[in-house]
Amino acid sequence: MFKKMFICLGMLAAFTLFFASCDKKKEEWKGKERTLSIIKPDAVSANHIGEIISRFESEGLRIAALKMVKLDEKGASDFYAVHKGKPFFADLVTFMSSGPVVAIVLEGDNAVLLNREIMGATDPSKATKGTIRSDFAKSISQNAVHGSDSKENAEIEIPFFFTEKEQQSRF
Ligand code: ATP
Ligand code: MG
Repeated sequence: MFKKMFICLGMLAAFTLFFASCDKKKEEWKGKERTLSIIKPDAVSANHIGEIISRFESEGLRIAALKMVKLDEKGASDFYAVHKGKPFFADLVTFMSSGPVVAIVLEGDNAVLLNREIMGATDPSKATKGTIRSDFAKSISQNAVHGSDSKENAEIEIPFFFTEKEQQSRF
């Protein structure tokens, strides 16, 4: 009888400790900087999704939300609207709507800048060795990943892909 009670109390204590440590972890990540990453159609079709995501995680960023989507031309054009009128705009829209992409909300300290560092320069021939674009991008127009370039733009780009509820999926 006492033995059974002792086991039950032990299990209760273990569950309490487990849930308390989960809550503490959640609190640690609340309010961390967020950025939007997109794994572009070239990297998706070349089967590099896993390798790219593992770079984010190994550099200390956390996946807060993630989905695979296929943009249509209007979606791609709206997302990159800031580049409308530039000579590469039409090709960019065609490329970004040519196949599925993986949209990811990354979070962590200095997430915007850290993600840009992990990505490397826009032109892969100028990207630092070991960056995603240096290792996986084919050209300046098919360059494996997108990353928000400021906190302000991240706040605009994240809701482009994720509802409020989806943005909170890890909490
Ligand atoms: P992204 O916004 O996709 O993260 P980025 O911020 O490094 O890229 P931007 O200047 O915002 O670079 O350009 C958006 C995208 O347009 C680039 O990723 C690239 O695919 C394309 N692009 C930019 N400049 C050129 C160019 N000179 N020739 C062809 N494509 C270009
Ligand atoms: Mg950009």
